[in-house]
Amino acid sequence: MRTISLHDIFEARERISKVIHHTPILYSSTFSEMTGMRVYMKAENMQKTGSFKIRGASNRVFSLTPQEGAKGVLTASSGNHGQAVAYAARACGYKATIIMPEGGSPAKAASINGYGADLVFCGTTSDERLALAAKMRDEQGLVFVPPYDDPYVIAGQGTAGLEIVEDLDDVAAVLVPTGGCGLISGVATALKEKNPGISVFGVEPTGSNSTGLSFKAGRRVSLDRIDTVADGIRTSIPGELTFPIVQKYVDDMLLVSDDEILRAETLMLERCKLLTEPTGAVSLAAILFGKLPETFRGKKVVALISGGNVALPQLAGYISAK
Ligand SMILES: *Cc1c(COP(=O)(O)O)cnc(C)c1O
Repeated sequence: MRTISLHDIFEARERISKVIHHTPILYSSTFSEMTGMRVYMKAENMQKTGSFKIRGASNRVFSLTPQEGAKGVLTASSGNHGQAVAYAARACGYKATIIMPEGGSPAKAASINGYGADLVFCGTTSDERLALAAKMRDEQGLVFVPPYDDPYVIAGQGTAGLEIVEDLDDVAAVLVPTGGCGLISGVATALKEKNPGISVFGVEPTGSNSTGLSFKAGRRVSLDRIDTVADGIRTSIPGELTFPIVQKYVDDMLLVSDDEILRAETLMLERCKLLTEPTGAVSLAAILFGKLPETFRGKKVVALISGGNVALPQLAGYISAK
């Protein structure tokens, strides 16, 4: 199986730069005072479609031949990846089909519809949706765009890492929320290939820690129960392609509680006026609640704020609890 290089990430940037935002890196004096570190946030919650997922999805979709694209693209995620695939396909004039669970969120369905994609409702488990996706791929020739386990997707996510290392000098550590590990494997490749002195940490909720367990075990470990408010990273096992990259480049995996995630989300809104979804606050939570080693005192640390797609009534619940 093919892995990815810095060169692939540069190519990805060429391919997708017209469609994506080069997002800002924001400094917070409040969070710096709270922690004794110099705290920055890479604001991918301000990215097109509301999350970094457009980077990988557009790199995959823009790499298709016109013949492949004409058949249409397909994915089985109703969340940020589904929105990103819908957006990327529309940018090329390709048809997109997004498979959603029966009874999935009407807000997500509306937003995917808004990007002009077709919705197909199927079952309640991801296995059922993936089986339908495989069938549609085989029978109709649609191109499946995986959420993380794909070299183009990984390289696309890596462009966020390039922006960090190019925009900010003397970065000591970058913290990244991890689900299937597409984001962290791309970002860590960019950072370590540019500057091996930068430490890269993955962050997971205590109730969804498959990558941390796998990292310790030295092999991919699967969870049978997942329980976290961070709905963008409810993944039971790290990817086949992504996990070896995590093993190669990531310094350590950290854990945060749901309570810490929601407190970080609330603080970002209150102090920085940054609107994020719970998953987007996971990396900052690790900085604010003392999960980084003491050696980073006085140093520049960057939390990758991965997404901002949250329904406002839900947000009200998250922040009023804090
Ligand atoms: C998908 C997603 C992640 C995790 O990305 P992986 O590539 O699956 O590790 C983190 N945050 C948000 C907001 C996401 O949508």
